[in-house]
Amino acid sequence: MAIRIIKHFGLKPQLLKLIEECFELIIAILRYLITGKGYANLLEEMADVQLVSDQIIAHFNESEYIYNMKHYKKERTLKYIESLKKQKT
Ligand SMILES: [Mg+2]
Repeated sequence: MAIRIIKHFGLKPQLLKLIEECFELIIAILRYLITGKGYANLLEEMADVQLVSDQIIAHFNESEYIYNMKHYKKERTLKYIESLKKQKT
């Protein structure tokens, strides 16, 4: 599905769309942090960023790279948390 959408609209417009969606997400985060309102909008903008990101990843055929990078970063963060716990003891 993601590849069909980016084939229709093209890479450059979807990269610009990703900038737009990232900006909307930043605004939604700030609104939620400052006012405590806009929970549904926060979720919607996260979905938008994921959807357009998925299109860019499909265009470059880099799903495996992204999967591995996410795994690496998750593991690195978990190790960092463990190192912080050890410092406390
Ligand atoms: Mg949006």
